[in-house]
Amino acid sequence: MTASRNCGACNYFEQTDAIEKAVSNKAGLCRYNPPLMMETMAPVAQWPVVQVKDWCGKFAD
Ligand code: SF4
Repeated sequence: MTASRNCGACNYFEQTDAIEKAVSNKAGLCRYNPPLMMETMAPVAQWPVVQVKDWCGKFAD
């Protein structure tokens, strides 16, 4: 995996205002799959939070 093929450069990555303020552009949401139920939280579904430098095999330009 090259350095540029990470979550921060992926078409499925979205950085919301709330996340941007909380973590200074270092994380965002992965929109590849629908939101997932979080067992540790109240019944709520949440998009997976990924780091800008993370990556996976579903990367899309
Ligand atoms: S986890 Fe995969 S699909 Fe989601 S933003 Fe990162 S590279 Fe893209």
